[in-house]
Amino acid sequence: MDFAPSDEERAIRDTAREFINREIMPLEPEVLRRERAHLPGLEPGQLRELQLRARKFGFWGLDTPDEYGGMGLPAVTQSMVWTEVGRTFVPFRFGGEADNILFHANEEQKREYLLPTIEGERRSCFAITEPGAGSDAANIRLTARRDGDDWVLDGEKTFITGGNEADFAIVIAVTDRDRDVRRGGSTAFLVDRDMGWRSEFIQTMGEGGPAALVFEDVRVPARNVLGEVGQGFALAMQWIGKGRYVIPSHALGIAERALAMAIDHANTRHTFGRPIGDNQAIAWMLADSETELEAARWLVLRAAWTVDAGLDPRHASSMAKLYGAGMVNRVVDRVMQIHGGMGYTRELPIERWYRQARLLRIFEGTDEMQRLIISRDLLRGYTKLGGHLA
Ligand SMILES: Cc1cc2nc3c(=O)[nH]c(=O)nc-3n(C[C@H](O)[C@H](O)[C@H](O)COP(=O)(O)OP(=O)(O)OC[C@H]3O[C@@H](n4cnc5c(N)ncnc54)[C@H](O)[C@@H]3O)c2cc1C
Repeated sequence: MDFAPSDEERAIRDTAREFINREIMPLEPEVLRRERAHLPGLEPGQLRELQLRARKFGFWGLDTPDEYGGMGLPAVTQSMVWTEVGRTFVPFRFGGEADNILFHANEEQKREYLLPTIEGERRSCFAITEPGAGSDAANIRLTARRDGDDWVLDGEKTFITGGNEADFAIVIAVTDRDRDVRRGGSTAFLVDRDMGWRSEFIQTMGEGGPAALVFEDVRVPARNVLGEVGQGFALAMQWIGKGRYVIPSHALGIAERALAMAIDHANTRHTFGRPIGDNQAIAWMLADSETELEAARWLVLRAAWTVDAGLDPRHASSMAKLYGAGMVNRVVDRVMQIHGGMGYTRELPIERWYRQARLLRIFEGTDEMQRLIISRDLLRGYTKLGGHLA
């Protein structure tokens, strides 16, 4: 068993790190200043400009296959790169990406939606959650009714990331009320904003905000069905599955950076004539944080590895998402405690991480939903104790 990254994984990780250190981290003070003034952290167009700069560095489409101009990296390498991205709080991500389920598009849809999204010319959002259906996603009510060559969509989605900025939405709608939404009763649609939906900004404790999407008799041509009629829920689960290792990969970067700040502060801040790190109360917070960080790292890498190995990644990914999201919340809380009053100010990014990290326990499957999946697999005997070594 070899826990060392390959030369290639290490080279890609180091290049990503260099780019983040050199091009992204210097923007941090400006991001904090802008956000304190209630402006988006990056100016309009700045994210795209940074993504194009990263493209010159060789980073374009981590998950996007070769034939679409991307890097098509294995999940383990993607996870390592996402951890590097997590080390900065600048709202940056590498470009050249599209929602994984957009690759189910037909040739015409690829030209109209997939390729421009990869190029950053169009922006998508993914919408399944509704006011009455979050964890219980099979309870969605937004309906698409067939009318001649069109479908007509009525209903509401909520908490949609990117919903304020997107020019098209991937919408999961009920298309057959007589069937279970999970088994043939729902369909995914590609719905342009100018087909008639509107978005309403939702203020949250995080920076930026998701949107509610309102559909009132929105007419969508039948050629805008993504995948097959009846396949909506399966596509939705595929979309969500990706996040379950990407989200905790990102969390590792946040925890690593925050913990490095705490170690530095514990060595340099003096009280009662000695560094605060000399106190066991502080030292043990550091020890617990690193231990949990490493435990999370190996859960995350194993989840990514199951994807690359072609195994069913759901159980491992749920454990990685559950533990990784909890870990980053505990670590950032301790880092704030170690920084005392300064940790609570907006001079430092700690309170920002504190607010950002809290979301990770809620979206793309709450802690409780991950526990439900993990325990159900165990109780039904679907997974064996011992993971893939069993
Ligand atoms: C900032 C943000 C961005 C988001 N982005 C998107 C997006 O892009 N697209 C999208 O479709 N959705 C998105 N979501 C929605 C998100 O996935 C849901 O909020 C989440 O799945 C929880 O659903 P809910 O809010 O309806 O809570 P509920 O399902 O109402 O749950 C409330 C509480 O009850 C618990 N609970 C529910 N059922 C059980 C059970 N059986 N056993 C034990 N506990 C249970 C939950 O864990 C939670 O603690 C986003 C949400 C937020 C906050």
